[in-house]
Amino acid sequence: MALDKLLILGAPGSGKGTQAKFIADQYGYKHISSGDILRKTASEDTEIGRQIAAIIKAGELVPDELINQMFLNSFKQLEGKKIICDGYPRKLSQAEFLAENNFVFDAVIYLNVSLEEVTDRISGRLTAKISGETYHIKHRPPKVEGVCDVSGEKLIIREDDKPETVKKRYSVYLKETEPLLEFYGSKGVVIEVDSEKSIDVVWKDIERVVFKKK
Ligand code: AMP
Repeated sequence: MALDKLLILGAPGSGKGTQAKFIADQYGYKHISSGDILRKTASEDTEIGRQIAAIIKAGELVPDELINQMFLNSFKQLEGKKIICDGYPRKLSQAEFLAENNFVFDAVIYLNVSLEEVTDRISGRLTAKISGETYHIKHRPPKVEGVCDVSGEKLIIREDDKPETVKKRYSVYLKETEPLLEFYGSKGVVIEVDSEKSIDVVWKDIERVVFKKK
């Protein structure tokens, strides 16, 4: 089975970004993180940048009109390459839009994790803006406190990782994103991975069940 087009799905804090980066680095995929792309747009001093920044800060979803065509175009430009999509699609209308435009995922990796675990993870999460690396105060501390191992930049707490926004993002996930499991489940492409475990164990499980590593 070809595994050229992958989607990684899960609640905020399920480890999507971390595991997608491993897949990209170790199996030669291009990592497309909608959150990173939208945060970059949000940091620009433009009307659309300000609009998107306010939506992200509130933990809500950016409207389809602003992003559907943009992501479809970038997926099309990467036709023939191996891609791992992280964060888009994350609601039914986006998944339907891709399907209507004949864009089909070969496998959807679902990282299953409880709300309790997610809350613990996000509350200690530190992010490096430039390198895109993420750390955790307890579970994945950087070598030097407050500094990214890769780029040496100062680590920050993402605006939308603040407790009030995390709750909102989780409820948006349950309402908008979980239905995608049924949508892709009916197409027989969902691979579930228990993401309650440590980063290393989850990664080993992904290698075993998705990439059939012995
Ligand atoms: P993430 O880093 O994936 O948690 O995304 C951060 C924020 O970007 C989300 O809370 C949304 O506001 C926005 N975002 C990312 N992907 C999408 C998407 N597919 N549809 C709408 N909004 C999105």
